[in-house]
Amino acid sequence: MHVIVLGAGASGLAAARRLHDAGVTVQVLEARQRIGGRIWTDHTFAPFPVEHGAEFIHGEHAVTHALVTAAGLEAIPVDRYGRLRWSDGGSARTIDALPPHRRDLIGALFRTFDRLRDVPHDAPDRSLAHYLRECGFDEEALTVADVLLAQTCCASVETLSCADLSRELRVDHAGRREYRVREGYAALLEWYARGLDIRTGTVVRLVRHTSGGVIIETDAGIFHGDRCIVTIPVAVLQRGLPQFDPPLSARKRRAINALRIEPATKLFYRFDEPMWDADLTFMAHKGLSARWWTAAHTTRNAAVIVAYATAARARALDALDDDEALAVGLEELQTLLGRRDLTQRQRAARRVAWGADPFAYGGYAHVPPGAADARVVLAAPEGATLFFAGEATAYDSNPQTVHGAIESGWRAADEVVR
Ligand SMILES: Cc1cc2nc3c(=O)[nH]c(=O)nc-3n(C[C@H](O)[C@H](O)[C@H](O)COP(=O)(O)OP(=O)(O)OC[C@H]3O[C@@H](n4cnc5c(N)ncnc54)[C@H](O)[C@@H]3O)c2cc1C
Repeated sequence: MHVIVLGAGASGLAAARRLHDAGVTVQVLEARQRIGGRIWTDHTFAPFPVEHGAEFIHGEHAVTHALVTAAGLEAIPVDRYGRLRWSDGGSARTIDALPPHRRDLIGALFRTFDRLRDVPHDAPDRSLAHYLRECGFDEEALTVADVLLAQTCCASVETLSCADLSRELRVDHAGRREYRVREGYAALLEWYARGLDIRTGTVVRLVRHTSGGVIIETDAGIFHGDRCIVTIPVAVLQRGLPQFDPPLSARKRRAINALRIEPATKLFYRFDEPMWDADLTFMAHKGLSARWWTAAHTTRNAAVIVAYATAARARALDALDDDEALAVGLEELQTLLGRRDLTQRQRAARRVAWGADPFAYGGYAHVPPGAADARVVLAAPEGATLFFAGEATAYDSNPQTVHGAIESGWRAADEVVR
């Protein structure tokens, strides 16, 4: 059997690895000139890896953690949420140093979010905002929830489906600890991809499929296979790339169109030395630059800090040119750190906007209220030849993550073999 995998991101490589190791002939077609997709480690900005895309391993039990060990790489623990600092305007303060009403609200929001796990399966689906209002939170509290809960999901509180969040909390066994890969996330995928037949620079335009096999038309020629695993991001599929002949089923197209993908933007700043105290890990506020973390690669005096904005905030930043967006971020950082000298002290700055990326068109997919079955439908095979993987299909794991993407690739590979 000859299997063609579309996309060399975490899910495509996981599918290809599993098939290859099972003795199946597999070929991976990738549009970019590199593998990794939404994992993209940079080694030019700082004397340690800087992650343009995925950065953290979410959970001590996440499959990525075990793969990092198997690859002989190192997972560095990062405590973000345990050391969260919040700002309502001035300098960001540790949770303990916040006024009691703010400290209590933040604690209550996280606890209420966790209780989504207990929402009955058959309860009517509604937005996270709706659920929080029902739990007694006012509109001001919702603006805090938007930063602390929805920004992570690349969404707003108004567009997140409680049914999907509840599903995820129920199946989640990854654990709460977080890590970075010391050598960079891309090193993990390079190890994982060893020995695979991967054609980079191969944009797939058309997938012809019959019960007998697939013919894939690309910018780099035509490829024939018996089966095909599609891992192309939903936002790309929504734009009609690739085309399918015959077209995908109406049910599948509805699921593709139901999922929502918002922009995700990172702003990176490098200084000669840290402009912050050694305990700083993670700060959040209601500004455009929403959430900040230091890139502590256990490198002495690592002086890089990163802002991560998604959804409406990322859209607002993306509407500015590079210099303007980076200036907005730096101004907000000065307030959060209580300093006025960052413009002079900054050595380099960079913006990475995934919403403008033609092979991602955004961060990661979320499910809006009323479309709770979209992940399962997206994941389902079409006929005997087309199979689907990718973070958005990870209905039995954590979508929006690297480990969810990998598990979805394994699932699709197992379906092909079966
Ligand atoms: C800014 C950002 C931060 C993130 N942070 C984290 C984090 O800290 N931790 C975490 O676990 N996850 C994080 N994620 C999510 C994680 O990166 C993704 O869930 C995961 O990498 C998705 O893998 P995938 O294989 O499903 O998709 P992708 O990695 O997008 O792979 C799909 C591949 O398909 C290719 N492709 C697209 N169109 C075509 C075409 N027409 N022909 C051929 N190939 C095509 C793409 O180039 C890409 O390589 C983050 C994502 C972003 C964007």
